[in-house]
Amino acid sequence: MRIVLTGAAGFLGSHLSARFLDDGHEVVGVDNLVTGSRDNLAWLQEREGFSFRHHDVSTPLFVQGPVDGVLHFASPASPVDYLELPIQTLKVGSLGTHNMLGLALEKGARFLLASTSEIYGDPEVHPQPESYWGNVNPLGPRGVYDEAKRFAEAITMAYHRHHGLETRIARIFNTYGPRMRPGDGRVISNFIVQALHGEPLSLYGDGSQTRSFCYVDDEVEGLYRLFHSETNDPVNVGNPVEFTIRELADEVLRLTGSTAGVTTRPLPEDDPKVRRPDITRARELLGWEPGVTLSEGLERTIPYFRAVVASSGARARVL
Ligand code: NAD
Ligand code: UDP
Repeated sequence: MRIVLTGAAGFLGSHLSARFLDDGHEVVGVDNLVTGSRDNLAWLQEREGFSFRHHDVSTPLFVQGPVDGVLHFASPASPVDYLELPIQTLKVGSLGTHNMLGLALEKGARFLLASTSEIYGDPEVHPQPESYWGNVNPLGPRGVYDEAKRFAEAITMAYHRHHGLETRIARIFNTYGPRMRPGDGRVISNFIVQALHGEPLSLYGDGSQTRSFCYVDDEVEGLYRLFHSETNDPVNVGNPVEFTIRELADEVLRLTGSTAGVTTRPLPEDDPKVRRPDITRARELLGWEPGVTLSEGLERTIPYFRAVVASSGARARVL
C-alpha cells in the first residue's frame, strides 16, 4: 500500500509511519514541523519506502500517483502547544481534515482520523464509552482543540455517509513514550525531564485529577488494527488503567531516583477531572488491548529522555 500520513514528524505520526514501513508499505509523510521534530524525520528518512513533503495541510495537498490510505495526524496535541497556536489548531482540525478527506476521496483511499479523548471534554460519564457525547466548553481555551476535533469527526462521518468514503475514527487517549519532544509540555515528558534535572515536578492543582496512560507501542498497534478493520464508527484506543496525576508524579520520582518532590501550580482552566476509556469496542472489533503497564512504559521512556537531556540540556515546558 501507499500511505499518506500527516503529522509524520510528530510523536505518534513517526511511530505509526515506522509501523507501516515495517510491513513493507510506502509512506509519504507530510508535516509543516510546527510541533514536529527534525530528529523524528531524520530517523524515518533513513528507511526505505519513506518520502517527505513539507506542507501545511490546512491548504490543499496534491499527491501524484496512487494512494491507498490517508491518515490524518497533523495537529498540535499538547495543551501548551494548542493554547499557543489556537488558530492553527482550529484550522488543521477543520480545513486540514477537509483537505485530507478530499485527497482520500479523489484517490479512492481509506481515511483514518486521529481524534481524541478530549472530544469527551470534562466528562460526566466515567469511564467514557464511544456512545457518550461529551461535556465540552466551546468558549474556553481548550475549545480550540476539542471543537476542531469534534468538527473533524462530524465531517469525516459526513464524507462516509454522503460520499461512501471508507473512514476510521480513532479516539486516542493520553499516549507517551520515546520520541516525544522534551519540551512538549504534556505531563509525562514534563515530569521525567524535570526529574532528570533534579527539579521538583510541576503538579497542576492538587494532583487528584486522573488520566489513563497508554504506552506508544500499544497505541500504535491499536491504530494499525483500526485502520485495517471494517468499522466506520469511532473507537477508543487507550489504556483503561487510571491513575491520579499525584500517583504518576510519585512513580516518576521513584523510577528516576529523584528526591526533588513536587511543586504545585494552579490547575489549568477546564482541565478534565477524570479520564478513562471504555475499550469494550476495541477489544471486540480489533481484538486489541494494551499490555504495557505504566511502570514498564516509564522504564522504557526514561532512558530516551536521559539521552536527550544529556545531549541537549533540554528543559520541560510548563503552563
Ligand atoms: P505532535 O505534536 O508530536 O505531532 C503533531 C504533528 O503534526 C507535528 O509533527 C506537527 O508539526 C504536525 N502539524 C501540526 N499542524 C500541521 C499542519 N497544519 N500541517 C502539517 N503538519 C502539521 O503530537 P502527537 O502526540 O504525535 O499527536 C498526533 C495526533 O494524535 C494529533 O492529531 C493529536 O490530536 C492526536 N492525539 C494524540 C494524543 C497523544 O496522547 N499523543 C492523544 C489524543 C489525540
Ligand atoms: N499536568 C501537570 N503538570 C504538568 C503537565 C500536566 O500536573 O507539568 C496535569 C494536567 O493538569 C492534566 C494532566 O497532567 O491534569 C495531563 O495533562 P497533559 O498536558 O499531559 O494532557 P491532557 O490530558 O490534559 O490533554
